[in-house]
This record gives sequence, C-alpha cells and structure tokens, in this order.
Amino acid sequence: MNKLFLLLSFLSVSSVSNAQTAILGNPVGPLPETITGVIEGSPPSDAIVLFDGVNMDAWKHVGSGEASQWHIDDGVLTVNNGSGTLVSKQSFGDIQLHIEWRPSEEIIGEGQSRGNSGIFMQSLFEIQMLDSWENPTYVNGQAGSVYHQYPPLVNASNPPGEWQAYDIIFTAPIYDRDGTLQSPAYVTLIHNGVLVQNHTEVLGSTFPAVPEYKAICEPYEIGETMDCTGKLPLLLQDHGQVVSFRNIWLREL
Ligand code: MG
Repeated sequence: MNKLFLLLSFLSVSSVSNAQTAILGNPVGPLPETITGVIEGSPPSDAIVLFDGVNMDAWKHVGSGEASQWHIDDGVLTVNNGSGTLVSKQSFGDIQLHIEWRPSEEIIGEGQSRGNSGIFMQSLFEIQMLDSWENPTYVNGQAGSVYHQYPPLVNASNPPGEWQAYDIIFTAPIYDRDGTLQSPAYVTLIHNGVLVQNHTEVLGSTFPAVPEYKAICEPYEIGETMDCTGKLPLLLQDHGQVVSFRNIWLREL
C-alpha cells in the first residue's frame, strides 16, 4: 500500500462528517446558512449546476475525456446514441441531486432496450432510468431501481414523452484507512414527487455480476483503476436509446 493511498484514505475518512449534531435547549446560534431554495424550478442558490440548458462544460466523454457529443436543442440535452457515456469533471461525495429526464415519445424497443439511461453515483452505483410505463422488465431494472439490487417501492413513471424528475440523497461509502469498508453507500430517491427508495443500503457497485465495494476499483466504463475511497465523478449513461435531460444540479452535503 503506497503513501499516496494512505494519505487519500486518511483524507476521505477525516472529511466525512456532515451529519447533523443535536443541539439541546434554546441557544441563539450558530445560525444555519441562509440560502434561496428552489423557486419555479430554478436551482437553490448554493447548488452546483451541471446542466442549465446552455452547454455541457461540466461533463466530458467517459473514455476519451473529450467534449460531450450529445445534442442540445432548446435547452434540452439528448443522448446522441452511441456517442458514449458522460462523466462529470468534478468529483463528489455526499450529495443531494436533482435531474429531470424524458424517454422519447416514440416507443422503440422493449424491456431494457426502451428509454434506458441512468445516473451513476460516484461512477459506481446506478440509479436506473428506463421508460417503465407499461414496459415489463426484471423488477430491479425498472425506473427508480438501484440497478440490479432494489426495485422502487412503487412505479411512479410517467408516460413516454413526458418529463420525469429524480431527487436523490446519496451518502457515500466510508472506508477505513486500510481500505476496509466502514459504512456502505445509502440512497434515498424521490421519483416524480414520490418516495421510491428510502435510505436504501447499497450492496456495492451495481454493474459487476456480484455487487462489490473495493477501495481500489475500476468505475463503470472509465477504463482505469483508481482510488475509490474518496470523492468520485457522476456518470450519465448512453445505453443506446433516446433519452433527454434538463435542469441537473446538486448540493454537496
Ligand atoms: Mg441504465
């Protein structure tokens, strides 16, 4: 184990402490930070905006690192099929994420081949997007799933061609300094205003045959082994179907 890994492990462990602390009695401070919340769909004032309808400067192609080749028309981003999955340039730990997505109105294909995309927390844990309106597939692969692990509590999908919203609270896994998992990842997901994952304990990365947590890992389609104990980028999946996006923002927690 090299010194860099030990240092990164220490930083990741020592920096993970965003849980609220109880305050008893009637103290007048410290005051919570004042921000502006969501107003008519616009991001909160402390949000990191990852797509505002104008450009994809916050993203790059997962393999080549080159600029996104997805289309932007009228403020809407659409997968350019086959041009590749995108990865955020910035890395994140615990986040609150908002993303709006829309499977194509024209129904093409079925099951996993109909309106499939997904957003991967830390490039490892996929929150599945799928056109799940009257479209049977394996239950832990439908919209609102922690992919291949947990089906949603209910199917809150809209018909194809309508916008849908995910609001995600993600708690990143924590590793000990020796790379042993100390605490797994957790996901809470609200789909179109409905709770579909309630502080769900993620069993590990969602794309291997068996979910796994590894301190040194190879994230989805990134094609390189890296330290996975700290902050990691998001992925937005090109699964070969027409899915559109708008209004992507997050808050670091
Ligand atoms: Mg997917």
